[in-house]
Amino acid sequence: MAQDLSTLDKKNPVGRLAPSPTGFLHVGHARSFLLAWWDTRSRGGRVVLRIEDLDRERCKPEYVEAARADLEWLGLDWDGEALVQSRDLAPYERACESLLERGFAYPCVCSRAEIHALSAPHASDGEQRYPGTCRGKWRTREEARDATGRTPGLRLAVPEGRVAIVDRLRGALEFEVAAEVGDFLIQRRDGAFAYQLAVVVDDARQGVDSVVRGEDLLSSAARQRLLHERLNLRPPSYAHVGLVLDGTGQRLAKRRGDLALAHLRAAGVDPRVLVAWAARSLGVEVGQRALAAEVLPRFTLAPRAAQPAQFSDAEAELLRRST
Ligand SMILES: [Zn+2]
Repeated sequence: MAQDLSTLDKKNPVGRLAPSPTGFLHVGHARSFLLAWWDTRSRGGRVVLRIEDLDRERCKPEYVEAARADLEWLGLDWDGEALVQSRDLAPYERACESLLERGFAYPCVCSRAEIHALSAPHASDGEQRYPGTCRGKWRTREEARDATGRTPGLRLAVPEGRVAIVDRLRGALEFEVAAEVGDFLIQRRDGAFAYQLAVVVDDARQGVDSVVRGEDLLSSAARQRLLHERLNLRPPSYAHVGLVLDGTGQRLAKRRGDLALAHLRAAGVDPRVLVAWAARSLGVEVGQRALAAEVLPRFTLAPRAAQPAQFSDAEAELLRRST
């Protein structure tokens, strides 16, 4: 399962920008996207765009439009057409079928309330550990439906033991997926394919071999690693960058509407001020304003990128005054 560390910084990687349009992107997202783009482009790589819009309840067309415009506003570009997840669900269905047929996944009819009643929340992110109630009961969705009268979702049967990943910034890491999360959903009972499954399927079909994203997705990497293994896919390299904190040391909340990129864009803020802040947060010395492309020659993904970045009220004021 271990990856060779020496190959993690390979030339000509394929990286990705993968916004999830469940709301407007904010300053924190901007930094992650800039770092992903700088990392791939500075190594002569291709960047692909993916719109992760499988959550039909939360994703809205105006957020999709805004995400594309935000990325362009930041000075980021990508190669080829965007992959929009909701346009074709067949690849996710095929992956589920393959896992189900080979006994790596199973139908689950439990409601969220039932799982909640049975298990303690997982300490770090409040996620419920699934206690395995439906494991081994039915082999197909039809069997589960006939036996219970409920529409089942699908869960990956998670093997006992630790899951190892290698992060370019953080080195070798191990996660106890079975103990912490348990058998996780790959398709919800309402039919929606889970984020973890879709990411793995799409990274493979878009040829993505280098992932740079926020630290909040670090524990997801272990679940995705299990899916790579079960689907016989080569895992990408990972770099999980630090999150952006406000002046009080709290994670920059999505609720801070004034720091939504769409808002800043509409207010006529100069994106070069934001780009310069992101570069400085990595120790790359630039002036008060910089184009994303101007940072490229001086960029290397250093361990410092794993540290949280401060976006204080003074930084917000600098942005406001740049109009
Ligand atoms: Zn169940």
